[in-house]
Amino acid sequence: MRPRVGHFMIAGSIGGYMAKTARDHGVMTSRRVVVVGAGILGASVAARLAAAGLRVTLLDQDQPGRATSRWSFAWLNSNDKGPRHYHDLNYAGMSAWAELAPDLDGDAWYRPSGHVELATAGAAELEARVKRLTDWGYPARLVDAAEAAALEPALRVPPDAAAAFFPGEGYLLTEPLIARLVARAQSHGAQVRTGEPGRVTGLEPGAAPRVRTAAGQVLEADEVVCCAGRWTPALAEVPLIPWDTSGSAAPDLVVRVGPAPGPVRLVHTPDLALRPHPGGLLHLEAEDAAAAVDLHTPEPELRRWAAELLRRAQRTVRGLDDARVVELKVCVRPLPADGQSIVGRLAGARGIYVAVTHSGVTLAAHLSRLITTDLTTGTPPAPLTPYTPARFTPDLV
Ligand SMILES: Cc1cc2nc3c(=O)[nH]c(=O)nc-3n(C[C@H](O)[C@H](O)[C@H](O)COP(=O)(O)OP(=O)(O)OC[C@H]3O[C@@H](n4cnc5c(N)ncnc54)[C@H](O)[C@@H]3O)c2cc1C
Repeated sequence: MRPRVGHFMIAGSIGGYMAKTARDHGVMTSRRVVVVGAGILGASVAARLAAAGLRVTLLDQDQPGRATSRWSFAWLNSNDKGPRHYHDLNYAGMSAWAELAPDLDGDAWYRPSGHVELATAGAAELEARVKRLTDWGYPARLVDAAEAAALEPALRVPPDAAAAFFPGEGYLLTEPLIARLVARAQSHGAQVRTGEPGRVTGLEPGAAPRVRTAAGQVLEADEVVCCAGRWTPALAEVPLIPWDTSGSAAPDLVVRVGPAPGPVRLVHTPDLALRPHPGGLLHLEAEDAAAAVDLHTPEPELRRWAAELLRRAQRTVRGLDDARVVELKVCVRPLPADGQSIVGRLAGARGIYVAVTHSGVTLAAHLSRLITTDLTTGTPPAPLTPYTPARFTPDLV
């Protein structure tokens, strides 16, 4: 049995953070909030809002965590993200997961492995990036080939490789994490509806906004938080890069191969990104594969790319001689038109709050606490200012 809100005192935990927020701001904790979408963002928001004492209903058209979040590379990083405020937001995102892990069975999902990079765009670019990051207080250092090989023994490191190590980075296992976030929300009284009763067909703004579901129900709330990932524009007017068109930049190819005895860390090489995945697998991605595929790419071409990524992995990592492609999926990144998160109240749509972002795995723990502060105090915290949806509709503000 968990203690009630107000008794949590673990700094940074979902319960502890929100108890402090509610005490400090003396807020409206009996408010009804409907959260649409139970990916990593919606599940994080629902858990924090419920822990703060709000009456939460979490809706998903599928089971929680089965969409983009399930297939994500899930790299926790602020490695090459600008401008500075977006770097800071992502860096805070990394810390937020570290703070949450001890309170939410982190052994099951938190992997602060560190990241080894062999120069992807030439040594000069890597050196400049490491310098900029260290100037910004971000853990990063250049290493020689011998140290890179020692850090990641499974990796075949060319003797002349330029390399860097980012000790604060890592990755998340999103499926066990989202299951725990949803369970945490439920333990604080949240209702969860999935399938047709959870599929939202329309949002009606207003002083008491309404949510219509495919099962014909109408839910009334004090606030609706739309965390529908790439499907957000179907429910709320925000500009995402169209993901269903041929040649769209939003789809990416995920290939999982195994059996894979190593490596232990997240790794980037000039032509491959890889990390361990449960079940003795490796999760593989590559920029050229992402650029080449979309949701209309024929199956044989996808298989050709998968075989190519497996070959690259076999060249890169020892012990993959018997590996084969186990999973192959084109999945879609929710990409805001200007590349930055969109988080806040929708201008001209009272009661509708939107949260949609790329890098949502890195950001969800931190964004969800900022969103909870915003919803419980009525004032957006300063770190959210650059991400307001109102930047796309200046005439409505
Ligand atoms: C291949 C790939 C690699 C990535 N790599 C990284 C990375 O390394 N690091 C990182 O931080 N980020 C990464 N991202 C981005 C990150 O995965 C996403 O930003 C994040 O998963 C988005 O989470 P979400 O909860 O917003 O969306 P989703 O996980 O897509 O969840 C949205 C949910 O909304 C539900 N929904 C949609 N419409 C409705 C409706 N009408 N009614 C009810 N429910 C609805 C869906 O069923 C779904 O469950 C990557 C993405 C991809 C595709």
